[in-house]
Amino acid sequence: MGEEATEQRTDGDGAAGDGAAGEPAVPQEGDAGPHAGAGHGEPDKSAKKTEDAPAPSRAEVSNYEIVEHWFGVAAERLDLPDDVAAVLRSSYREVQVQVPVKLGDGKVHVFSGYRVQHNGARGPYKGGIRFHPEVDLDEVRALAELMTWKTAIVSLPYGGAKGGVNVDPSKLEPHELQAVARSFMDKIEKVLGPTRDIPAPDVGTNAQVMAWLMDEYGKLHGHTPACVTGKPIALEGSYGREAATGRGVVQVFREAAPRVELDPAEARFVVQGFGNVGSWAARLMQELGATMVGVSDATGAIASEGGIDAEKLAEHVYAGGSVSDFDGSGEQMDADDLVALECDVFIPAALGGMIHRDNADRMRCRMMVEGANSPTTPTADSILNDKGVLIVPDVLANAGGVVVSYFEWVQNLQHFRWDEDDVNERLREIMGRAFQEVADRAEQNGSPMRPAAYELGIERVVEAASTRGYI
Ligand code: NAD
Repeated sequence: MGEEATEQRTDGDGAAGDGAAGEPAVPQEGDAGPHAGAGHGEPDKSAKKTEDAPAPSRAEVSNYEIVEHWFGVAAERLDLPDDVAAVLRSSYREVQVQVPVKLGDGKVHVFSGYRVQHNGARGPYKGGIRFHPEVDLDEVRALAELMTWKTAIVSLPYGGAKGGVNVDPSKLEPHELQAVARSFMDKIEKVLGPTRDIPAPDVGTNAQVMAWLMDEYGKLHGHTPACVTGKPIALEGSYGREAATGRGVVQVFREAAPRVELDPAEARFVVQGFGNVGSWAARLMQELGATMVGVSDATGAIASEGGIDAEKLAEHVYAGGSVSDFDGSGEQMDADDLVALECDVFIPAALGGMIHRDNADRMRCRMMVEGANSPTTPTADSILNDKGVLIVPDVLANAGGVVVSYFEWVQNLQHFRWDEDDVNERLREIMGRAFQEVADRAEQNGSPMRPAAYELGIERVVEAASTRGYI
């Protein structure tokens, strides 16, 4: 305990590459091996999977290359000077720490932990913490930058950050997972705090992990609930936070549906990744009357023309089951073929890079609402645009989680709790306004929504940074 966090501050044209705002090249792709997401814990009622299994192919292009590509496109359109673009491409602070934990085999295992603070011009850094075996600095850096644009697009007074530990939580006992969370917090607490940087859950972490992080931070700083969000209700978490990202996905879907002349109650949808985001999006789509015709997790995929009951599947997964051993409606299918199911709406809600050059052309949806971060590579994005698929991009579509995290932080700072209807209604207002602003910008530009969203976010960050005198 108490080990110093090693800080590597980058500036100018440091960590993020050449810093030039030249012609953005589309990153090259290829297939990568299986990737398994994982979840853990009791208080979070999200569906979580815990097994490893063959998974659909993913693009080799990294999350970082995807985010940089879109930044480059927007920077060029906005005519950002090279020196300003160089500041925005690189992280403000990158912390990498050793997370040594004694596991059940009696040995000390050393994991790597990261916290990247990308840009804080608009307020304290904000972003999730991911526990996944493939977490590395490149991925965390990309996800931190994505948070900077996302918080700006939905007009929250935050900057962007992300963190992670390269651990597979499905392989750990609860006490081991707790030890990882506490050890990680001990190493990074110096750069966190309610006015500095506020973590939240992401892939492989949940409300229980947030509770341990808050408790560990409190040992050093006194009880500070506003130091993390996504906490359990019993520990000043916010009503509605657990479902918030999925709810936001469904809210923007409702805004977008008329643009493809779709009645939400008639919609047939597919969910890739039935974890927190995917399972809540599916249940709330079902509440609207929509029908889930296909779904997957890291263990496999099922499909049914007549519909799969999202509520029952979520109960099954919450009880420790997985999509592949669900004995409700639905036929087992090859997870690689999920993308080719005919549907109105495809909701990627697993990991990055899963819609890529080699499978985008097979997609038969009218609309894609991105629950996951960076699920679509730039090549796949242009294939889908050419096919006329309306894409509601991640930086807008999955912002519901950080919006309700913001509400949780506000409630914690006031030690006052809002009821769930209040939270959901405020979320609807913010998501609706952000959707409209992005859609208007896209219309003005004659562009798809993604470049328009990046432009809005980048413009707002540039304005804040220059008004502060930072750039
Ligand atoms: P989670 O760990 O709860 O769920 C991930 C799901 O994806 C699991 O069901 C897992 O089995 C599945 N999965 C993993 N590999 C897969 C594969 N190859 N094929 C099909 N399914 C696979 O994570 P989550 O919190 O739901 O996050 C999902 C995505 O949404 C991530 O990209 C995350 O960054 C993004 N996101 C999450 C939040 C949030 O509030 N949790 C907010 C914004 C964005």
